[in-house]
Amino acid sequence: MSAESKKILIVEDEPSLVFTLQDTLENEDFQVFVAKKGDKAVDIVKREDPDLMILDLMLPGMSGYDVCRKVRGMNYTFPIIMLTARDQEIDKVTGLNIGADDYITKPFGVKELLARIQARLRRSDKYSNMTPINEVDLDPIHVDLKNAKVEHPEKGELELTTREVELVRYLVAHSNEPVSRDALLENVWRYEFSTNTRTVDVHISKLRSKIEEHPDDPKYLVTLHGVGYMLKMS
Ligand code: CA
Repeated sequence: MSAESKKILIVEDEPSLVFTLQDTLENEDFQVFVAKKGDKAVDIVKREDPDLMILDLMLPGMSGYDVCRKVRGMNYTFPIIMLTARDQEIDKVTGLNIGADDYITKPFGVKELLARIQARLRRSDKYSNMTPINEVDLDPIHVDLKNAKVEHPEKGELELTTREVELVRYLVAHSNEPVSRDALLENVWRYEFSTNTRTVDVHISKLRSKIEEHPDDPKYLVTLHGVGYMLKMS
């Protein structure tokens, strides 16, 4: 994969770290943009539509969490790697829940960060090569992935979270195949550290309440005991 056309946005207020990262990434032929504040980062995202964002958590003004939420709220799906000063498990969980893809704790080696960037870009390439599915009919429920909405006969119009949209996309791409919880963690949550598969179960359960008429007796998104899940579609 050639990196020359890839755009990376660094959101960090620490000048020495910005200097090192910018230098390293430019040497790897990335096109680098820098924002020292969250609101500037959002402006650059809108203007440049980067391929990846490196996002420091501790920023003056708008925090890294807020930036992440805002960008995901605008439906940008490029990978986000968060930087934090402390190795706090709670930060990791919060970051990943609001849509970050990966996490790296300061101080870190530049080589490690580069490896993570390459891994993320390879995966997002795979994603962007897939034809996006925008409408799914789970009669009597209509799922509109483009607008993250569900038309439910009893509950009316429901909103899907970014994660639920990704989950449905993955399940549709693998419909009528058993899908393990680990596969979902890997491909939808994109965790690189081990985590509880309970996260998957909780999200599946919430998703069922939106896309199933009878969530306790699902017609489409079924559990395969000892295996995982399967989206049954005709
Ligand atoms: Ca900082």
